[in-house]
Amino acid sequence: MEAGTRRGSGTHRVAAVTDAELDRLDKARAKSLCDLEALERKVRQELGASRAAIFKAHRLLLEDPLLIGKVKSLVVDGACGAVEAVERTREEFIGMFQRVRDSRMLERIADIKDVFQRIIGHLDDPPPLPPVGGEPLVLVAEEILPSMAGVLLERGRFAAIVTETGGVTGHGAILARSLGIPAVSGARGILRAAFPGDLIAVDGREGVVHLRPGPEILTAYRKLAREYASVVGRLVENRDQPAVTACGQSVSLLANVNYPLDARVAHATGAAGVGLYRTEYLFLTHPSIPEEDEQAAAYRATIEPFGSSNVVIRTIDLGADKMVPWLTGQHEANPFMGYRSIRMARRHPGLFMRQLRAILRAAAGGIVNILFPMISRLEELLFLRRLLDQGREDLTREGIPHADEIRVGVLVEVPAIAFAIRSIVKRVDFISIGSNDLTQYLMAADRDNPKVAHLCQPYNPVLFRLVRRIFKAASRTGIPVTICGEMAGEPRCLLPLLGLGIRRFSMAAALLPSVKELLRRVTVEEAAEAARRVCRMSTFRAVRRYLTERTHEIMPDLNLIEGD
Ligand code: PEP
Ligand code: MG
Repeated sequence: MEAGTRRGSGTHRVAAVTDAELDRLDKARAKSLCDLEALERKVRQELGASRAAIFKAHRLLLEDPLLIGKVKSLVVDGACGAVEAVERTREEFIGMFQRVRDSRMLERIADIKDVFQRIIGHLDDPPPLPPVGGEPLVLVAEEILPSMAGVLLERGRFAAIVTETGGVTGHGAILARSLGIPAVSGARGILRAAFPGDLIAVDGREGVVHLRPGPEILTAYRKLAREYASVVGRLVENRDQPAVTACGQSVSLLANVNYPLDARVAHATGAAGVGLYRTEYLFLTHPSIPEEDEQAAAYRATIEPFGSSNVVIRTIDLGADKMVPWLTGQHEANPFMGYRSIRMARRHPGLFMRQLRAILRAAAGGIVNILFPMISRLEELLFLRRLLDQGREDLTREGIPHADEIRVGVLVEVPAIAFAIRSIVKRVDFISIGSNDLTQYLMAADRDNPKVAHLCQPYNPVLFRLVRRIFKAASRTGIPVTICGEMAGEPRCLLPLLGLGIRRFSMAAALLPSVKELLRRVTVEEAAEAARRVCRMSTFRAVRRYLTERTHEIMPDLNLIEGD
């Protein structure tokens, strides 16, 4: 009897706990669905329907009876708590997707993690985040997922981002930079070490994070932050100043943009145009291939602030770190070296044709600049040109208004094409130098891997020599050359790049004011001297030291922004 009673009371206790856990689970799920609906609405308003689609996909996943049924059965049968049941289900789903060994499935893993994390967040009942307008927060995360754009867009809410993975030129960091939020990536262990409510000092210039800083560090960083804000405020005022050197040489300072909204911000910051429009961001949060009309509308909105002749539209650069579930095939061991970007065009001409038609339509009656990324041999360019001609002919035959003049460019980012540059420049109207990938392939160092970040720095004498070679070949034919990797927005690189002859720089809009201020203080002669010197140097350290000192001499207050 006693034993029975004990067993009975035990069963009762478990049943009561089980009910409470199931209730908690239902509430967390309902809250998660609410979040997703609100996010979907917000992102649709700010960035358009295509980017809001990811939240719909997450909602559908959460509403899937299989998923929630599995979690609940673990609570009931396994007598485990709600959090553990969610975690166990998550691991099971991830394992299932991994076993399929299909990269489309593998890419869904990020979404699964996102959705489960959202439920766990509500189960944990974290202290509610302060409303916008309270003290800004530091977002600490494993990585920046495309789906976080909605949260990041709450401007003013996040003072900084710290992630465990990713590199300075990875797409997460690029997204943060385009939103003007300081970010440090590759902070291993931060998720385990940091707790909600902890104070964190983040130095986005130097990639340094101080968790629970002592009073000295805190005072120093608060002072730096005040000085930084005052310098940035002063620099932003230079938006209407012309981008000319101290000796009168005009330079085009352009913006790299990912969304139509970025183009508006870039225009307000004083950019002369868009040097690189990364159109794949439209695809990254879309559950399927965006329709031609939808694409044309996004491209039109991005072109609108500057006019089509001042905007360079890059065709989709998907694959590697920018995966979409509906496109890629088998899992690849080395996706950066694999089936990415325009390499997909032969097998998916329809996908590229849809985009090319949308781009041509977006610039109806005007001039359009189309940039092809990741070209590694001439045949690829010739194939894409044929596709483009075909697209134009089709639109003409169908009587659909489209661009009158098409300018075609190649993004030089694979070393092989940098060496074959003479045969390329004869067949294009402009070229851009993608220093992020060019560096990664030149150095055989993954741009997203913090362990080899030292190899991906721009203070690389060999990289400067390669840029010199590319620029020389292009200048023989007189076509414009833009530099559009992250190097273009690094003030310390301005002097040598200018000295090598580059006159078009494309960067995140947030970096533009300080680059312009520096530009206005240098002469072409000083720049040429810096270029000569770095091209003769043999170590990164020497280049970095020299460029830091030289830049500091010209603009002493710049170290407040870019570190030393
Ligand atoms: C580059 O590789 O330098 C570049 C501009 O393209 P992305 O950073 O988008 O790869
Ligand atoms: Mg690239």
